[in-house]
Amino acid sequence: MSQKNQFQDLFDLQSRASARLRGSSARERIHRLRQLEHSLVKFESEIADALKSDFGKPFEEVLVTEIAPVVLELRHARRHLRNWMKPRRVGSPLALAGTTSHIRYDGKGPSLIISPWNYAIMLTLGPIASAVSAGCPVLVKPSELTPAASDVLSRLLASVFPREEVAVCCGGPDVAETLLELPFRHIYFTGSPAIGKKIMASASRHLASVTLELGGKSPAIVDASANLTATASRIIFGKFANSGQTCIAPDFLLVQKSVYPELVGKLISTLKVFYGEWKGDGALPSDLSRMISRDHTNRLIGLLDEAKTLGATLLAGGRSDVDQSFLEPTLLADVPPEARLMKEEIFGPILPIRTFDNLEDLFRILAGYAPPLSVYLFSRNHAFESAVLQRAEAGAVVVNETLLHFANPQLPFGGLTSSGIGRGHGHAGFLAFSNEKSVFRQHGSSWLVGHLYPPFGAKTRKWIRALMKFS
Ligand code: NAD
Repeated sequence: MSQKNQFQDLFDLQSRASARLRGSSARERIHRLRQLEHSLVKFESEIADALKSDFGKPFEEVLVTEIAPVVLELRHARRHLRNWMKPRRVGSPLALAGTTSHIRYDGKGPSLIISPWNYAIMLTLGPIASAVSAGCPVLVKPSELTPAASDVLSRLLASVFPREEVAVCCGGPDVAETLLELPFRHIYFTGSPAIGKKIMASASRHLASVTLELGGKSPAIVDASANLTATASRIIFGKFANSGQTCIAPDFLLVQKSVYPELVGKLISTLKVFYGEWKGDGALPSDLSRMISRDHTNRLIGLLDEAKTLGATLLAGGRSDVDQSFLEPTLLADVPPEARLMKEEIFGPILPIRTFDNLEDLFRILAGYAPPLSVYLFSRNHAFESAVLQRAEAGAVVVNETLLHFANPQLPFGGLTSSGIGRGHGHAGFLAFSNEKSVFRQHGSSWLVGHLYPPFGAKTRKWIRALMKFS
C-alpha cells in the first residue's frame, strides 16, 4: 500500500474514533494522561540513550529539559482538566432577558502534530497532552533529524494509545507534505518560521486552524542596575543549554555601556565554571550537547567567520571539531548589525554582545527585529522594567531569568507574527485543540424580542431605541 493510502487509512480510523473521544469523560482522559506519565518514566533511560546517540545530549540535561517539563505539563492537565472541560456559563444583555448562554469545549477532531528535533520528546509529548486533554485523536510527525528519539517516541506512544487515538508517522518533509494533504481540523506545528509559512499555506486548503510555535531572535537585555553575578549565570545557562539549540535561548545580548566590562568578565568566568576548559582535543566537554549535524556546525562556523571578517572580537571560545559536530561556547563583541549573526536566528552556542546607552537607544536597536518569542530583561530598576514590559513586542517578557517561564504550564506559551501564531501549554493548549461551542437557549416567551417582529411601525422603532438605551 502506498504511503499516501496508509496515511489516509490512519486518518479515517482516527476520524471514526473522533466522536467517541469528543464525548469521553474527564476520568477517561485523565487515565490516559496518567498512563502517558508512567510510560515516560519507564522509558526514561531509553530516551536518554536515544538523545545521547542523536546529538550527545547529557543525561541530566535530558531530565531537566525533556522529561521534567512534560511531567509538570501532564500533572497540571490532570489536576485542572475537570474544570477546563466544564461548560462555562456567560451572562446575557438585558435585551435578551429570558435567555441563557454557555460555552462548551468540544475536541476539534482529527489533528496533526509536527515537531522539531531540538527537544524531540518534550515538544512532541507536550502538544499530545493538550490534544488528549481536549479529546482529539492525533497523527504525530516527529523530526527526521533525531531518528533514535523518534523510534523511542513511537514505542512509548504505542504502549499507551491505540492507533485510533495517537499514531506516529516517521519521516522527513515528504511525509509531512503527504500528511498535510489530509483534512485535519487542527495543525500544531513547532519548527522554523520558513516551514511555518508552508504549514499555514497547506492548512488553508482545508481551512484547518493552526498553532505555529516558531522561532526568532530573543534578546537578553542587561541594564546598569542588574545583579551581574546572577545575570551572568542565568544567561550562560539559558544560552548554552542544548548548546544553544533552543527556540527561546537568548540569541544576542544587549548590555548597558557602563556595566559592559564587568558583565563580560563574569560571563567568561561563569563559562569556565559551568563547562570547564576544552583542551581542543578529541575529548569533548561532558556537560554540553553537540550540534545536531555537521551541516549545522558548518553553518555556525560560517556565521562566526563572517562576523570576524566584519570586525567582531572573539571574547571566548570559537574553536570547533566538525567531525564530532562540536562548537565551543563562544562569546563575541563588536558584531556589526549587518553580520548574519545579528540577522538570522543563531540556534547554536554563539552569543554576540552589543552595548546600548539608554532606553531610547535600546528600543532603536530592538525595532530592527521581528517580535521574538521572549525578551529577557535583567534589571532592578522598576521604571526601566515597566518601560520594557510596556514597549517590548514579544510572546513573553521574562525578568531576571531565562528559559524557566517555559516550565510554568499556567503561562500560555507562543509568539507573534514570525515567532508564532496561537498559544500552547496548560489551559491554552487545551483551548487550541477545542472548539468553543456557543450554546444559546430561549426560556421565555420572547416577549421583548416579539416587539421587534414585523409588521414594523413607529412602535417597533420605539422598542429598538429603548433596547439600545438600556442594554
Ligand atoms: P524545521 O522547521 O526544519 O522542522 C520542523 C518539522 O517540520 C520537522 O518535523 C520537519 O520534518 C518538518 N518539515 C520540514 N520541512 C517541511 C515541509 N516542507 N513541510 C512540512 N513539514 C516540514 O525546524 P527544526 O530545524 O526541526 O527546528 C528548529 C526551529 O524550530 C528553530 O527555528 C526554532 O526556533 C524552532 N522551534 C520553535 C519552538 C517553539 O516552541 N516556538 C520550539 C523548538 C524549536
